[in-house]
Amino acid sequence: MADSATHIDVLIVGAGISGIGSAYHLQEQCPTKSYVILEMKDTFGGTWETHKYPGVRSDSDLYTFGYRFKPWVGAPIASAEEILKYMGEVIEENSIDQHIRYGHRITGCSWSSQDNLWTVQATRLADDATVSFTCNFLWMCQGYYDHENPYIPEWSGMDSYKGTFIHAQKWDPETDYAGKRVLVIGSGATAATVVPAFAEKAAHVTMLQRSPTYFFCSENKNELADRLREIGIDEPTIHRVVRAQIMYDQDMMTKRCQTEPDQVFEELKALIRQYAGEDFEFEPHFTPKYRPWQQRLAFCPEGDVFQAAAAGKLSVVTDTIDTFTEKGVRTASGEEIEADIIVACTGFRLSVMGEIPFQVDGKSVDWHETVNYRGMMFTGVPNLVWVFGYFRASWTLRVDMLGDFVCNLLNHMDETGTKRIEVSLRDEDSDMDILPWIEADNFNPNYLMRDIDRLPQRGAKPEWRHNQDYWSERDEIPTTDLDSPEFVYDGKRRSQSAVRKKAANAT
Ligand SMILES: Cc1cc2nc3c(=O)[nH]c(=O)nc-3n(C[C@H](O)[C@H](O)[C@H](O)COP(=O)(O)OP(=O)(O)OC[C@H]3O[C@@H](n4cnc5c(N)ncnc54)[C@H](O)[C@@H]3O)c2cc1C
Repeated sequence: MADSATHIDVLIVGAGISGIGSAYHLQEQCPTKSYVILEMKDTFGGTWETHKYPGVRSDSDLYTFGYRFKPWVGAPIASAEEILKYMGEVIEENSIDQHIRYGHRITGCSWSSQDNLWTVQATRLADDATVSFTCNFLWMCQGYYDHENPYIPEWSGMDSYKGTFIHAQKWDPETDYAGKRVLVIGSGATAATVVPAFAEKAAHVTMLQRSPTYFFCSENKNELADRLREIGIDEPTIHRVVRAQIMYDQDMMTKRCQTEPDQVFEELKALIRQYAGEDFEFEPHFTPKYRPWQQRLAFCPEGDVFQAAAAGKLSVVTDTIDTFTEKGVRTASGEEIEADIIVACTGFRLSVMGEIPFQVDGKSVDWHETVNYRGMMFTGVPNLVWVFGYFRASWTLRVDMLGDFVCNLLNHMDETGTKRIEVSLRDEDSDMDILPWIEADNFNPNYLMRDIDRLPQRGAKPEWRHNQDYWSERDEIPTTDLDSPEFVYDGKRRSQSAVRKKAANAT
């Protein structure tokens, strides 16, 4: 039975790192707004709660993956448990918990232009009841992949395999792998995490990859942070300074990956040799075909993957799977790899807007028909922002940035007495090429490329795309003129004379 609808000003979808950060900014910058967070799980954390495989950890440093408003005081690379503890502190310190409704799976969102309201329906998992909310603004923090169904390719003969087969996303921490032969399929960030963790107790680990990955090996410490702590600098200052240092270094690295990829690769190899020895052989398993940074660099604290390889606990096979067999898999080149446990680290299934059915004035929204404004707002869909973070830099940098943006927007709407905001292509955009979400040679992980036809489209101008570039956005997004003509309020663009008048008043 459906309850009567609860009304709030802002509804945040998801209690992952994006949803909790967004709630913090809303409370701080729009203190009069009422809000709830709807979360289908029975706890917060999102990604960091879903994944339970051995060794699960960040591959970004927590100085930048942590929020700008709460200092990170530990080692840069953190376990899922440490990230959850940090998020738990943010929730508690800011009394965010009273706003979170756990166990609420959103099943539909519909916008009414007559009422300027979203109606959001959810199933309350405790009693299977349908509950409804109405809100003025939807802040979509549901992430980008399906938390329940990971991506598993269809390999032939899977039924004949007699051992334990599991996708890393579904790993049960009770599984005993001590003394077992473990085969890990894949070589991305997840594989780079599980391989050294398995190698500690397993009889042997084999990593079977279709193609090689770049690895960045480093100690799990930040010398600047340690030094500043040693001389007594306060944690908020350390957090600010170390974030600045890391972002500067990453910017340099990204640029160098584009201008001198071969030199960068030589440097990555030198780091690996520190852990694997001078004679370590890179061909054929550690020589990727793409440029560094076209996909996320797999971070390897203390070179642990290479330490396992050097100790003979890990072998790498670069090949494709021909078929599963009773005892393991046979590769295309005919090699049989026997394993007691096979762990697929084959990535995610993209989830666009949590696969929630959306309607605007009774018409279903096909996200691929929309054009995105800076990867956060979508033509034809009012009063909604999607927090889609960065892949090359820490995701959370964009959570803070869009937190400011959304709060500015909400405050601007209040100041101007407007109820509805949407983005719309301008006359000058009429000839603009409309293209897929991201170009294949910019950032091209398989899960995006597989489903690019379901993602919103982009235009050939900077404002109509998510460029995945923190360093340009940190200048552009905070200085956005909310009265510029791509923003349409209550069905009208701000007239340029009004905008000029506003500018004159401001000076
Ligand atoms: C193993 C792993 C490691 C990663 N490491 C890093 C890293 O080191 N650095 C980095 O920058 N990025 C990393 N990422 C990317 C990472 O997912 C993001 O950085 C970030 O955690 C995403 O946060 P989020 O809150 O946007 O989404 P999520 O963590 O996906 O959380 C979304 C939440 O929304 C909820 N939700 C979804 N649909 C609904 C619905 N219909 N109704 C109600 N609730 C719903 C989900 O249950 C979930 O709790 C990693 C990803 C994975 C999988």
